[in-house]
Amino acid sequence: MTASNYEYDVIVVGGGPAGSTTAALTADYGHSTLLLERDREPSFKIGESLMPGTYSTFERLGVLGNLKASNFPRKHSVQFFGASGRASVPFYFSENNPHESSVTWQVLRSEFDEMLLDNAREKGAEVRRGVSVREVCFSDNKASGVKARLSDGSVRELVAKVVVDATGMSALVSRKLGTKAMEPNLRKGSIFAHFEGGVRDEGIDEGATLILSTSDRSAWFWYIPLQDKRVSVGVVGDLDYLIQDREGTPQEIFEEELAKCAPMQERLAPATQLFPMKVTRDFSYRSSEISGEGWVLVGDAFGFLDPIYSSGVFLALKSGEMAADAIHVAIERGDFSGAQLGCWFEEFMPGMEAMRKLVYAFYTSTFSFATFLKANPECLQGIIDILSGLVYEKDVTYIFEPMGKMCDLPEDVDSYTVSL
Ligand SMILES: Cc1cc2nc3c(=O)[nH]c(=O)nc-3n(C[C@H](O)[C@H](O)[C@H](O)COP(=O)(O)OP(=O)(O)OC[C@H]3O[C@@H](n4cnc5c(N)ncnc54)[C@H](O)[C@@H]3O)c2cc1C
Repeated sequence: MTASNYEYDVIVVGGGPAGSTTAALTADYGHSTLLLERDREPSFKIGESLMPGTYSTFERLGVLGNLKASNFPRKHSVQFFGASGRASVPFYFSENNPHESSVTWQVLRSEFDEMLLDNAREKGAEVRRGVSVREVCFSDNKASGVKARLSDGSVRELVAKVVVDATGMSALVSRKLGTKAMEPNLRKGSIFAHFEGGVRDEGIDEGATLILSTSDRSAWFWYIPLQDKRVSVGVVGDLDYLIQDREGTPQEIFEEELAKCAPMQERLAPATQLFPMKVTRDFSYRSSEISGEGWVLVGDAFGFLDPIYSSGVFLALKSGEMAADAIHVAIERGDFSGAQLGCWFEEFMPGMEAMRKLVYAFYTSTFSFATFLKANPECLQGIIDILSGLVYEKDVTYIFEPMGKMCDLPEDVDSYTVSL
């Protein structure tokens, strides 16, 4: 650590997309910023398909050039395969918005996260890898810093005006405060791995995300083409069905589901699995508080919806950006209240809520997007805007009244408030 008395304006815990974005921007504002990342080296992470809506944050961070120069496959579209195996027409984002921001990327997370961490470092943040934060320290209900195990094994208390929890699903602060609540209607599990050599479409479809239902509709697969002939493949289903009440190893379960998805079998026929299946479960949750005196949550440390629309990294970047602006004003005014540090909640939540409602619609067995759009063609634009991640630029809320007549949508979040 370089600061002599270990005092910083901002300590960011976690070097994923949310943490790196917050740290890059607070450092860019000129605030002394320390980012602590547990992993000593870049490592495997799931969450590889980006949404076009990430563009504006990349632009602000100044990383568009790096992304354009990378060998991450370009993602122009998403395509859905029904239970019969029939494919929808690919949905090309540029048809909605003919601008370069409509082409996004499929990223190898170890490289992508490192790119964003390097950017935070270049903007002036002090970045420390191999430092695991044990706890956020509170005195008189105010976060005062963190207790961290440094790379040499020693434990230190580091002091800051603002602590940003960007620890992803570890959700350090909300677990400690008991504010983390699971989404009872979205209890899902997932089994996934990388493969080499799967069949790809050609031309601009080569980097498309494919979402494929199994024949009995009890689960769905993602197929995300990555660089160097690598492809990320995973299956998602109800937690009880896919994992909890199921016999067999993750590999066996994956193969049983694969046997029920002919188009996915065809794509994986020539492919080699690169590592044993990984499992993630019960990933839909959020904290009932987004901030408090001296602390604020960003990205998955606040909440995660579901992987179906690839919205996780988008929301991580967006929340990191909004939180950084709030922190800047907090430091300028000397106001470290929860209300100030979480003042972006009201702007952020409607976008997250729109995506959450569309997730609920997807998992309603009696609901079909085709039937819904036939009855309500004026809602197509709203759905396209949500799939593109344009929920902060466009009003998409008008689709939920007619949609609510065809499926049960969650209540708006009046019970989720910023602590004052
Ligand atoms: C099955 C599945 C599939 C998904 N697919 C997609 C997808 O296709 N597209 C998409 O956009 N999103 C996807 N996501 C979501 C995406 O992975 C996350 O939303 C995204 O990574 C959140 O970024 P983050 O920065 O908040 O957290 P993370 O990326 O998880 O980063 C948190 C960081 O904090 C570090 N950390 C944790 N605890 C500590 C500690 N105590 N001290 C120091 N460091 C710590 C971790 O090492 C990690 O680097 C998927 C999620 C799941 C479960």
